[in-house]
Amino acid sequence: MYSKTKIDSLVAEAPILKDIIRTKPVAWLNPEAKSIENVSEFSMHMETMKEAELLWKRFAPFFVKAFPETKKSLGVLESPLREIPKMKSVLNRNNEEIEGNLFLKCDNKLPISGSIKARGGFFEIMKYAEKLALKAGLLKKEDDYSILTSAKFKEFFSRYKIGVGSTGNLGLSIGIISAKLGFKVTVYVSSDAKKWKKDLLREKGVSVVEFEGDFSKAINAGREATKTDPNAYFVDDEDSQDLFLGYTVGALRIAEQLKAQDIKVDADHPLFVYSPFGVGGSPGGTAFGLKQIYGDHVHCFFVEPTHCPAVLTGLVTGEMSKISVQDIGLDNKTEADGLAVGRPSNFATEISKQLVSGIFTIEDEHLFKLLTQLKDSEGIFLEPSATAGLIGPQLVQKSGYAKTHQLNMKNATHVAWATGGLLVPKYERELFYERGCAQVAMS
Ligand SMILES: *Cc1c(COP(=O)(O)O)cnc(C)c1O
Repeated sequence: MYSKTKIDSLVAEAPILKDIIRTKPVAWLNPEAKSIENVSEFSMHMETMKEAELLWKRFAPFFVKAFPETKKSLGVLESPLREIPKMKSVLNRNNEEIEGNLFLKCDNKLPISGSIKARGGFFEIMKYAEKLALKAGLLKKEDDYSILTSAKFKEFFSRYKIGVGSTGNLGLSIGIISAKLGFKVTVYVSSDAKKWKKDLLREKGVSVVEFEGDFSKAINAGREATKTDPNAYFVDDEDSQDLFLGYTVGALRIAEQLKAQDIKVDADHPLFVYSPFGVGGSPGGTAFGLKQIYGDHVHCFFVEPTHCPAVLTGLVTGEMSKISVQDIGLDNKTEADGLAVGRPSNFATEISKQLVSGIFTIEDEHLFKLLTQLKDSEGIFLEPSATAGLIGPQLVQKSGYAKTHQLNMKNATHVAWATGGLLVPKYERELFYERGCAQVAMS
């Protein structure tokens, strides 16, 4: 934790920090958001995104063969973009009316692992697998990648190990795809990880190593164990550019979907995208990709739990990823899986600083309320973290953002990025839903 003097001086410079420390929900607009032409060079751009999409294309025949549920989509893993007018009416009740149309990007329905982690996590493993197989002379980029399901490749990949430290959706995604390819994969989890996740992973042939106590120490142990082995690869959520790149492909895909639904994005038709933010790879990657495509016509907002406002704290204080939420006295506890992150990744913080239009925080109970409202109104189940973006449209309107930027909100398209839900078992869904019912009843 920072000293009181240090915190006082940070608060003096950024008064909103006082509310953040008190875990009050806040709406922050980014004064340093840059117009796309002024954004500094990153190691990625449109070309890198398109190359990333080609890797997905090469793997499509593999998916068809290895995961029959992807046959219908010809091995393309994508989720629907769905308008949710009934949820919009629910949000409008006793509240400012949302101008424009409200959509949900349903990554809760992404095939195989049912969360946005399939984008980044699968991509990183595919890239590693391809590199190994190309180097060994077993594969050419022109091949039909369904051969990767053969015994020969399984035997080849079984000589390599993959490690990942994650209690949640990242562990599930990395575990499932790696085991399917034949890798020896280990997921390092804390002992309080949900039993259904550990069971599911073990059932898929993944080793699950549990650690008591401090999870970050566990991750470090996993990282060290993997990194010292030349035939092992550690998926490092905290600074993986490949994960990030995998997420950017989501932007290319949603752009196609908007076009297919005849939804315009231009100076007179602003696009707003709201994403939950954990380590920052998924929201940062999709925001980065969207900015490459739409420039200043897309406005990206992130949402964090009030107890884990990591990137928000980094940006308002200017301390970037040097500061953690524990440094300002917060406990970093939330029921929203994937969002209990006390310190954002370096890379995502740097990108967010330039690209994000604003950051909102949300209380856990509000996540459950949205979960129940969405289930009741649209029949869609999301896991708690995935509902966070739904608070976006009204907060943007209240913030005065549209006025400053002279936006025609009547033509606005709002997209809440629903990041997960498919794999949550029935009894857990019911618990979440009940918790939200109590919130709905109180409102
Ligand atoms: C991981 C995750 C997030 C956040 O993604 P980051 O890349 O960690 O920022 C949000 N929602 C769900 C359901 C997730 O699994």
